[in-house]
Parts: sequence; C-alpha cells; structure tokens
Amino acid sequence: MKYTEIVNDVEKNVLHTYNRFPIAIERGQGVRVWDTDGREYLDFMAGIAVFALGYHYPGYDEALKAQIDKVIHTSNLYYHEPLARAAGDVIASTGLDKVFFTNSGAEAVEGALKAARKYAWLKDGKNDHEIIAMAGSFHGRSIGALSVTGNDHYQEPFRPLMGGVKFAEFNNLDSVENLVNETTCAIILETVQGEGGIHPADPAFIQGVRRLCDEKDIVLILDEIQCGMGRTGKMWAYEHYGVRPDILCCAKALGCGVPVGAFVLNEKTAKSSLVAGDHGTTYGGNPFALAAVDAVFKLYDEADILTHVKEISVYLAEQLDQLAARHESVKAHRGLGLMRGLELAPECPVGQVASKALGKGLLIISAGGNVLRFVPPLIITEKEVDEAVAILDECL
Ligand SMILES: *Cc1c(COP(=O)(O)O)cnc(C)c1O
Repeated sequence: MKYTEIVNDVEKNVLHTYNRFPIAIERGQGVRVWDTDGREYLDFMAGIAVFALGYHYPGYDEALKAQIDKVIHTSNLYYHEPLARAAGDVIASTGLDKVFFTNSGAEAVEGALKAARKYAWLKDGKNDHEIIAMAGSFHGRSIGALSVTGNDHYQEPFRPLMGGVKFAEFNNLDSVENLVNETTCAIILETVQGEGGIHPADPAFIQGVRRLCDEKDIVLILDEIQCGMGRTGKMWAYEHYGVRPDILCCAKALGCGVPVGAFVLNEKTAKSSLVAGDHGTTYGGNPFALAAVDAVFKLYDEADILTHVKEISVYLAEQLDQLAARHESVKAHRGLGLMRGLELAPECPVGQVASKALGKGLLIISAGGNVLRFVPPLIITEKEVDEAVAILDECL
C-alpha cells in the first residue's frame, strides 16, 4: 500500500487515541527502519524501549521461526518447554522466587497490585488496604494501573478509579512516610521514572522506601517495565541501588518486540498471595512469546549486552552533556545508562524537535515535562550516537 492509502484507511477505521508521526514504517534492520517511500531513519526510540536488540538481531528471528513450526499457543492449562526456559531465565536474573507471564506492562502491574492486596488480606482479612504510588509516575492504561499512575490528565475522565490509592512525591521520603499507616499494603514506584520525564530514583530515597517496607511488612513493587532488561547498564535498575523489590514488573524489552510482560515475586509474597483460581490469562506467556523471552536472555548473554551498555552509555551521556552545553534551549540532562532525557525550555516544544528530527532521519520521542527521551536499542555504537547528536544539533 502507498503511504496515503495507509493513512486514509487507518484514520477512517482506527480509534484515534494516538497522534501518529507522518510516516508508515515498512521494515527494520539493525538500529534503522525504512518507511513506505524508502526513506531511512536512525531509531533512537526503539518501539518505546522495546527493541533492545534492534531489528533482526542474529538468532532472534530463528528462535521465533523454530517455535512457529512447533506450536505458538497452548493456553496455560498445559506445560510447555518455553515456559520452563523463560521462567528459569527470569528467576535467575532477578534473584526473586516465582514469575507470572502477562501480555503487556499494564497487566504485569495489575497482577502485582492483586498479589500485594492478597498478601495483606491473608494477614488480617480486612478490605481496607491502601497503596502508595508516586506523583509523575506511569504504570499503564488499564483501570488498576491507571489508578496508581500519578497523572491527573490521564486519570480525570475515568474516575472513579480503584480506591485506596494515595500519591507521594517521588524522591521525597518524608512524603512517603507521611502517608504510611497500618492499612498500607504496597508502595509502587518506577526505579527510573520514564513517561514522567526520565527521573532516576535517588539512592537515599529508594533505600529509605525499602527500609520502610521491611519495617512495616509493606510490599515494595518496582515497575521496571521501561528501565529494566539492561537499559541502565545493569539487568535490573534496582541493582544500582543495592535494593531488591518484593515484586518486580517487567515488559517492553523482555520480548524485544513480541508482546510479553511479567510480574516476579520474592519468596515471601509468592508463598502468601495468589493461588490457583486467583489470577489468569489466556494468552499470557504462550510458547511463542516465551520463545522470544528465552532467546532474548540467551542473546544478551552471548553478546555481553550489559558491558556494551555500560560503555556506550558513558559516551552517549558525554555527548548529551556537550549538546546541552551548546544549546540554551536544553535546561537539564538526566538519566541512567541508555535511558536519558534532555529537558527543554518551554519556548522549545519537544514535539517540534521530534518532528524536525524525523524530517532529518532520526526517530526520537518525548517524555512528560517537555523532555526529549533517549531509549535507543542497546546495541547502538558511537558512530550512531554521533549521527543522532549531529541531527539534534541542527534541530535545536
Ligand atoms: C510502558 C510502561 C507501562 C505500560 O506497559 P504497556 O505494555 O503499555 O501496558 C507501565 N509502566 C511503565 C514504567 C512503562 O514504561
């Protein structure tokens, strides 16, 4: 189909919940994609932090094709090998105890919230348990996940949402402590806030929250859907802080393009929360999705992706510091590893910068608070960083 035909059909038939960039992507290779007119783009958004290995990474397609030839779906009523393998990968990498696979990030958050509520309910049999979430957070669009998303604009039309949620200020331990009471069952936060504008947790904050949760037996849920899977240079961003969650949420790069998420429980919460009949999903963790997950863990290992991220992210950070120094329109540079943001001045709307960059062959997106977001494939090289920075130099 031609670009104009695609746009016409999409706008005619698809519910308009997205303002799309004016290109139609046809294929990808490495860290680049091509549109239907044959134009090439360097991809610094990676399908929103999904394509950690870029497009057609050697071994990835082969693993998926091999699984297609066997079976792609079984339901969760039967055992299958990809489930055994992927679960082993996730447990080994997190040091947690049990995993439940989902289809998306929002569903991983839903499951984590249910597990935390059940954990508290098993202790006292009460139905008044509260959850503390953070202002500026993002956890997904389903009602439960939206209820803990600290963004008024996203919540307002959909109230009443799930009850028993209070919002604290991210990186302000006092504000969390002030909300804790005997009904608090969980504290949920992103180790690095993504959609909210790329804000890494302060070590004292996340360590303080961990301590608070230990003291009061509150379930700490870390949402690493965006910042996990090696993006920050460690497999899980919490490893930077010397803390571990009670329940971890992951998705996005977990399948590197195949829709899959997971929530992962430590021994304490796994032993005393969801049991047979409490939770389920028809598709979640099907053989096709989990063949992707298992391949991703293998390929990360073989290519030593984490070492590459540690090295290349230092280079990206230096280049962005210099870019920020060259342009008055850049107010701040924040981030961890290959998850970085440039906060732009109000007179320099990030949407315009992203549109200009698109015109010059760079895919890049925004985050909340007028922030230009960098979540490239983890396999980028210095040459590609230079190329992206040169384009942004012109756009800014
Ligand atoms: C993307 C994201 C989600 C939601 O994931 P979906 O797959 O879109 O449901 C939740 N939390 C964080 C931190 C995210 O970045």
